[in-house]
Amino acid sequence: MSAHTAASQVVHESMFDSVLARLDAAVKAMNLSEEVAQVLRNPQKLVKVSLPVMMDSGKVQIFEGYRCVHSTHLGPSKGGIRYAMDVNQDEVMALAAWMSFKCAVANLPYGGGKGGVKCDPRKMSVGELERLTRAYAKSMRDVFGVNKDIPAPDMGTSGREMAWILDELNKIHGEDAPGVITGKPIALGGSLGRDAATGRGVMVSTLCALNKMGIDPKKATAAVQGFGNVGSHTARLLSEKGIKICAIGDHTATFYNEKGIDIHAALEYVKTSGGVLKGFKGGVEIKPNELLTAKVDVLVPAALQNVITEEVAHNIHAKLIVEGANGPTTPEADSILQEKNIIVVPDILANGGGVTVSYFEWVQNKMGYYWTENEVNEKHDLSMETAFNNVWTNAHEYKTTMRLGAYITALKKIEQGVKLKGFY
Ligand code: NAD
Repeated sequence: MSAHTAASQVVHESMFDSVLARLDAAVKAMNLSEEVAQVLRNPQKLVKVSLPVMMDSGKVQIFEGYRCVHSTHLGPSKGGIRYAMDVNQDEVMALAAWMSFKCAVANLPYGGGKGGVKCDPRKMSVGELERLTRAYAKSMRDVFGVNKDIPAPDMGTSGREMAWILDELNKIHGEDAPGVITGKPIALGGSLGRDAATGRGVMVSTLCALNKMGIDPKKATAAVQGFGNVGSHTARLLSEKGIKICAIGDHTATFYNEKGIDIHAALEYVKTSGGVLKGFKGGVEIKPNELLTAKVDVLVPAALQNVITEEVAHNIHAKLIVEGANGPTTPEADSILQEKNIIVVPDILANGGGVTVSYFEWVQNKMGYYWTENEVNEKHDLSMETAFNNVWTNAHEYKTTMRLGAYITALKKIEQGVKLKGFY
């Protein structure tokens, strides 16, 4: 599935190919049975739809939509819906597989799925987005289900789209089943604590790792790239635990302050600046890559994929990297970080807090009984600590990295599901 560029003869791996490469490395390290590996190399279901939508101009536009169910061996598939122009079959297959591993690492009774629509939501009116979202939900009515496949928000979608999908599915099935989707607004059965959950999971993973490394959080320093949902909650929660945040940045500006940045001041600032850090006065402005190579103990990439490249990895000073973003480290950089003995808490472990609280949302919907934010947070922290310790133990047992340890942890669990359910 690799794309070849004739002019330069450069071979670009597809995203699904790179998931397979990491899967195969774990399969080899743990000697997983070839039957199980074969099952996981092939997604269970792949649905492609075309969605005719009446635009505000009075013209009909056709949109491409996808849903991939990678596995259901441990329970119904779980995974977000992405609205972006680069959505394609290869990407949803890769992200669905990633969700299978993430849910298994987090010990959730779920398989993995992912969906998306190729569109640019920033260029569409609210009415166009609503018609597109309802058309997508209707086209997937036989795929989605409270005990089958449970979507959630991802890039370009939010609680608003989840509410439309919930309403459309409820109308089709003539029932009120809020657990068919997570990431809903609180008024429609969303969970308290969901908004900050991914950052909270990154904070818990960081504390667990510092503890293993014998570093006192109150004496530790950190840099956080990205100040959106994941980055801002991570920076706030780490600073509340006494970690000095010396660098923060987003796509508009990056700041450094040796004495520590006042994160609450930064949060107040972004409320007045249209959500961006540009113009913040709490530190000196530095170049974006200087954040990644800052002299801090902990680095949290919480913005984009592939930012820690080979070149950046050579210059990283942090002793610990906790991946808030999905896929921030390239495979080449991984080898360098390993040589430098830098511990990397991988994305499929570190950013699993979001899907963990999505699971809690589903559980609360099924019970029809809702927990306080403190109850959600307590259960979340315990779940993340258990996941961290399982990965740590496997990484040590197999004398490998936390990343491979996380894949091994996931595969051990999924293997049981595949074998217990059996083959035809
Ligand atoms: P977001 O849109 O809320 O925030 C993204 C942030 O990244 C913004 O502050 C943006 O300015 C910044 N950014 C963009 N380009 C940048 C650049 N070139 N340099 C520095 N900063 C840049 O998104 P989010 O929900 O916080 O997601 C961030 C990452 O975390 C993504 O990889 C996402 O897939 C992953 N993730 C998110 C969740 C979740 O619950 N939100 C869960 C798991 C994984």
